[in-house]
This record gives sequence, C-alpha cells and structure tokens, in this order.
Amino acid sequence: MKKFHNLKYSLMAFLIFSIIVPMVLSQAQVSKGADFYILYWLFSVMALLPANIAYRKGRDFAIWYIYGLCFWLIAFIHCLIIKDNDIAKEIKGWRKCPYCGEYSKPEAIVCHCCGKPLN
Ligand SMILES: [Zn+2]
Repeated sequence: MKKFHNLKYSLMAFLIFSIIVPMVLSQAQVSKGADFYILYWLFSVMALLPANIAYRKGRDFAIWYIYGLCFWLIAFIHCLIIKDNDIAKEIKGWRKCPYCGEYSKPEAIVCHCCGKPLN
C-alpha cells in the first residue's frame, strides 16, 4: 500500500531551501542584507503550502515546491483547482474498475462510469 510522505518532504524542502541555500548564499556573499533572508525564508515556508496540497492530489512535491517558490499566488490558486490524479486516488483507496479502468470512490459497489459491479 502506497502512502503520502508530506511531512518527510516538507522537512527536506525546509532544510534545503530555508537553511542550506541561505547559508551557501551568505558564504558566497551573493546577496547582502537581512531583509533578503527574511523574505526568502518566508517564501520558502509559504511554498510548503501549495506543495503539500498538490502532493495530496498526486503531484510531484519537489516540482510544486519550486513552482510555489517562484509564483506563490499562481501555484496556490492552481493547486486548489486541480483534481486528484490516479496516483492520489489509489493512495486514498479509490477502486479501479476492471471493465472500464475508471476510478470509483472506496465505498462504491458499482462503477460510476459503466455500472458494472466492483469487487
Ligand atoms: Zn467501469
């Protein structure tokens, strides 16, 4: 049985983008000023939100995290609009119809698409 790994990925993203990247940047003196780091840190934490929502809908966590970092508002709206894909449905216990291949809710006893019984 597959599982969601939100917390693990969130912690990894937080570690990489909130701690390691600013450390490297400050070592290389790419950018100066505390304001930059506060903003960067804020965005790296905020980007976890669309990444988690999209991940729960079966999307790739890392790609959505970077998407959220770059275009937070667009990514946030986008992640609310998208629907569960097949990966998410399988993890959430949706059942695949052996006749038509459509996914039905876990409590369904007949396929919503073709009407044949689900075993
Ligand atoms: Zn069916």
